[in-house]
Amino acid sequence: MVTFTGAGISAESGIPTYRGEGGLWHKYDPNLYASINTFLQDPSYYWSFFRDVRYPMLKKVKPNKSHLALAEIEERGNLKTVITQNIDGLHQEAGSSSVIELHGTTRIIYCMTCSQEYTMDEVFFMLEVQIPPLCSECKGRLRPDVVFFGEALKPQILALAYAEAEKCDFLLVVGSSLVVYPAADIPLKAKRMGAVLAIINKETTPLDDLADYVIHDEAGKVLPRVVKLLK
Ligand code: NAD
Repeated sequence: MVTFTGAGISAESGIPTYRGEGGLWHKYDPNLYASINTFLQDPSYYWSFFRDVRYPMLKKVKPNKSHLALAEIEERGNLKTVITQNIDGLHQEAGSSSVIELHGTTRIIYCMTCSQEYTMDEVFFMLEVQIPPLCSECKGRLRPDVVFFGEALKPQILALAYAEAEKCDFLLVVGSSLVVYPAADIPLKAKRMGAVLAIINKETTPLDDLADYVIHDEAGKVLPRVVKLLK
């Protein structure tokens, strides 16, 4: 089995989704806080968002029952890879060892000139002194290792995810609205290559009709039951 996860799996850890009820983009305009054009012109929007919202949130959250269930299913040998759209690093924190992060990770920040890497903690302390933060080696600009709106996904990461989807027997989608492309192509590719497709989501998705199984419920209620059944 391969799993494809979205913001919904982290919602029960307290990280708001982007588009749903209470979603972040209702409060923060993504054109200002998450677009590559704005980031290159004026990175202060992103860094003030990181300092005031993203960092405090990520310091507080823990993997929830769903992340832990997927790690346990992997441990049992029933799950090969997690492909995630999330940038929060919670799958790895839960113990999943094979994770493809399609949109990168907020936890790594690097210099756009010399590629020196920094942790979130290091950059948070830099932000106390100046916005935008600058590389302590070469004074270059820093950026998070995430895919901003207006940027392409890294081709090698996308190719790896497509390859996993195309050779799996069972693709389980958890907590994704399946509206962001090319990421949402992944379940389609798996299905086209003959995999069984299952979707767990609180709400309907555009691929529900195509799926073999659809469960409209909270991931945190469903996945621990899957673990129980496997046992
Ligand atoms: P989305 O916000 O478009 O959709 C979230 C989906 O999760 C919705 O369909 C909703 O019905 C469902 N959902 C919410 N709570 C759920 C629960 N408890 N159980 C099951 N389903 C639940 O998110 P998306 O499809 O991942 O795509 C949007 C983009 O948002 C991605 O690019 C991703 O990088 C980004 N994002 C990431 C994070 C994160 O890293 N935690 C948070 C917000 C957004």
